[in-house]
Amino acid sequence: MIDRSQLDIDRKVRLKLPHQTIGKQSPDTRTGNWDEVYLPITLEVAKAEAQRCIQCPSAPCITACPISNDIPGALWKLEHGDAYAAAEVFYQTSNLPEMCGRLCPQERLCEGACVVGKKAKPVAIGRLEAFVADVYRNHGGYDVGPLPAPTNQRVAVVGAGPAGMAVAEELVKKGHSVTVFDSWSEPGGVLLYGIPNFKMQKEILDQKLDYLRRLGITFIGDTYIGRDLTIEQLFEQGFHAVFLGFGASQGNQLEIDGGDLPGVAVATEYLVRGNLKPEQLPEEMRAPLPDAERVLVIGGGDTAMDCARTAVRLGAKEVTCAYRRTEAEQPGRQEERTHAAEEGVSFEYLAAPLCFEAGPDGHVARVQFARMKLGEPDDSGRRRPVPTGEEFTVAADTVVIAIGYTIDASVPSDAGVAVCDGLVVIDKGTGRTDRAGVFAGGDCVNGADLVVTALADARRAANAIDQYLAGEREAAA
Ligand code: SF4
Repeated sequence: MIDRSQLDIDRKVRLKLPHQTIGKQSPDTRTGNWDEVYLPITLEVAKAEAQRCIQCPSAPCITACPISNDIPGALWKLEHGDAYAAAEVFYQTSNLPEMCGRLCPQERLCEGACVVGKKAKPVAIGRLEAFVADVYRNHGGYDVGPLPAPTNQRVAVVGAGPAGMAVAEELVKKGHSVTVFDSWSEPGGVLLYGIPNFKMQKEILDQKLDYLRRLGITFIGDTYIGRDLTIEQLFEQGFHAVFLGFGASQGNQLEIDGGDLPGVAVATEYLVRGNLKPEQLPEEMRAPLPDAERVLVIGGGDTAMDCARTAVRLGAKEVTCAYRRTEAEQPGRQEERTHAAEEGVSFEYLAAPLCFEAGPDGHVARVQFARMKLGEPDDSGRRRPVPTGEEFTVAADTVVIAIGYTIDASVPSDAGVAVCDGLVVIDKGTGRTDRAGVFAGGDCVNGADLVVTALADARRAANAIDQYLAGEREAAA
């Protein structure tokens, strides 16, 4: 526990410390590679930035973090030069600080609440979290220590993304045996198949998965729960509990003419074919993406930016994002839009697609749009786009549809658990579904959301599953 009355540097002095510039690759350089945009920082820079934390007693950053990371506690250790110990603070409440530090929208979470940020730039919490977690993972932090005596109870986890990985790690550390099933061939879920390398290098995920395997977790790929294996069969095979963490991976389609033309793709397929090696993909997705001159991405969120920036790196000459509202209503992170614009992506606002049209070769060649204007606010509170009556055309030889994700309804249907508005219904405090022994969390419960939200659900569910299994042991004794 920090004695904050003993601050080495007075708070008023801390507030005057200059923020540290975190270097980035220039747009020209980074569009020629697949490396992360942010450059590594040194311990000296990290310490100087950590000193800007005023260690305020109320710590609103902790409240704003979905997993309540003790940010001031970690930054205190970092400013005193112990990055490894700082990482240990994050790992007390997080399974993936090396990823959350890179992927969280910090401006609306911890950094958005940072008191220093009221008059200056907030402390760069995300970059510091990533820095200390990198020190940790590269300096023995993933050593498997002693594990508790086995309970001989087995848990099946459906989905090997962030929620599944976190629940598996927590449960195996409580002595349970865990098997994680996924329909894709390799584990990682959205971390592998959705996040491009320029936001997070795949070696970070590989290292974490290697650690989880060494902890004793078994990953089984190419297994579609509800089709190849049912929840009922999992119980018959001797699993004592099931966690559903299968995410929201079904890319929404546009129900307009021409959606099946060659050259029209949904975001997931485009991202995986652009970012992964063919051997990591199912047979039908292994063909490389055809060369494209003009790529049009439909959608305005972070996934749309990921697709557009992937297209730039794949060599497209012109990349345009079309969105039906204006920039002010755009979902996703400003930082992602800024990075996309810096890399040459242009934006067509107030544009709603009407149909895809083919060229003489039968391949998509252009998209017909309706020009929109903003009307009254809708249920989301954002002003609704309404047609002006004007139409226009944008030429494109590749079109990527990035308009959100929904969950695969066949899994909860097979599990026989309650669903509301297409999402699995749980008790929020425990992750319990209405079927005994079946728990759930992450995007299949919340809709497409953040990695950190999935972690929060997974950690609550792991505690509840552990209690449930303890009850089963008692009942059997
Ligand atoms: Fe901030 Fe996300 Fe880290 Fe929490 S997990 S401290 S919200 S970057």
